[in-house]
Amino acid sequence: MKLPVAYYGNPFLRKKCKRVEAIDATLLQLIADMEETLVAHDGCGLAAPQVFQDLALFLIKDVYQNAAKEWVYEPTMVYINPKILSYSDETWTRSEACLSLPKIHGQVTRPFSIKIEATDIHGNRFVQELTELRARIFLHENDHINGVLYIDRIKGPEREALEPYLRKIKQTYNP
Ligand SMILES: [Zn+2]
Repeated sequence: MKLPVAYYGNPFLRKKCKRVEAIDATLLQLIADMEETLVAHDGCGLAAPQVFQDLALFLIKDVYQNAAKEWVYEPTMVYINPKILSYSDETWTRSEACLSLPKIHGQVTRPFSIKIEATDIHGNRFVQELTELRARIFLHENDHINGVLYIDRIKGPEREALEPYLRKIKQTYNP
């Protein structure tokens, strides 16, 4: 079932989410519904608070262009109770967008690589090293479960330039 999305201006997006305590049928159904929602919106990541769930959980769906310039969709990765173990000193800046902030994007600087730990859907803890876009998407989604949005990481004139659009999203999507 496709789930309703929380848009910018909704206080749910500012919650620091609770840890997932049990991987049960209810949680697995939520994960399946989140995947359906992610695909329906053509997104590459979706965090639980974006679908009104107060849980430290997110999904990442990698999409890339192959040599023939076709878009390839990787299987969805599920991260439960994620933790960042280390960051690279090296950073990079790239444009980001978010399902909860429709039709806008902004340049965000983030670490180039990270080492993370999380629980999978079978309840097993695993460690991953992520670089480049994968690291960026992980950090974007991890921010969501801490109540942080990518626009919070944009400062100065660039952030000011976004303000009219942010006001419009607030009005349009939170009637
Ligand atoms: Zn987002």
